Amino acid sequence: MKTFYTADHHLHHSGMEVSFGSIVETFEKPERAEIVLSRIKEVGLGPVLDPQRYEREPIERVHTADYLDFLENVFAEWRAAGRDGEVWPYSWRHRSMPPIDSPPSGLDARLSYYSFDMAGSITETTWQAARRAADTALAGADAVLAGDRAAFSLCRPPGHHAGRDFFGGYCYLNNAAIAAQRLRDRGHDRVAIFDIDYHHGNGTQEIFYDRADVLLASLHGDPDFEFPFHLGYARERGAGPGEGYNLNYPLPAGTGWAEWRDAFEDAHARIRDFQPSALVVSLGVDTFKDDPISQFMLEGGHFLLIGARIAAFDVPTLFVMEGGYAVEALGVNAVNVLQGFERA
Ligand SMILES: [Zn+2]
Repeated sequence: MKTFYTADHHLHHSGMEVSFGSIVETFEKPERAEIVLSRIKEVGLGPVLDPQRYEREPIERVHTADYLDFLENVFAEWRAAGRDGEVWPYSWRHRSMPPIDSPPSGLDARLSYYSFDMAGSITETTWQAARRAADTALAGADAVLAGDRAAFSLCRPPGHHAGRDFFGGYCYLNNAAIAAQRLRDRGHDRVAIFDIDYHHGNGTQEIFYDRADVLLASLHGDPDFEFPFHLGYARERGAGPGEGYNLNYPLPAGTGWAEWRDAFEDAHARIRDFQPSALVVSLGVDTFKDDPISQFMLEGGHFLLIGARIAAFDVPTLFVMEGGYAVEALGVNAVNVLQGFERA
């Protein structure tokens, strides 16, 4: 299996985040991609390739042009306003406030408009790193389109919390959605996205919510207690032509393998019924029992089993890296999924 990876991911590094009342070093840090890369080399998974640079066009198939312009330029605006440090939003529209349907002009108001939290900042080079993560996803999609059985896009920053025109949850561009749209645009009629990250893929859901050509199935911590909150309930089934093509599996804190596998197998059957011609896996391994920000109880060996079951779809498959914050175990856990797939 080819891995697509670029050291340009180092261009994004938020220094800190607020976690449970403390200012701490960000969990979404560059070491994450490096330990996965090391493990890929250690086990000899396959060639590691630098992704080519793509134009904005395949990204604009998923994200709005005004949002992309904002991401590209906001750091310069921040500096021009005489501000130091990194770009952080700090206020969001409360449910009691009327909806906003166009971007405000003020810098902080626009930051609020284009985001939903302050999990990650925008640094001077975040835009470049996010673009390269999207390149990494697109290159993986193109490998699958060229006939590879599977490919791994080792994206960082991750993507599944980013929507059509918003960032949040460490995510700026939705790498998995961009890849899925690429597969659609280059000949696959039906694409399924299987989001097995611990957190709900709220951005992916938002992007494809009214579409029947891209099915999303997401297993995650119940939004009643877990980030990103408010979205990820089972009742969210898609809208209009997309009704029935959005499948959420919210699970309780403490979910272990047996319970998780039951939900996974239900989603697996639903994806098979959809008969996708290609599959994108939003590969988060923050379901691991020692993950510092998650509350599921999967163990390292379970990730081999997950990979083997994903292989059973028997369709061209792209794995896109999402979360996983138990850094020491992250390489083994993520690559276990890929090895489980390869051996099946
Ligand atoms: Zn996650």
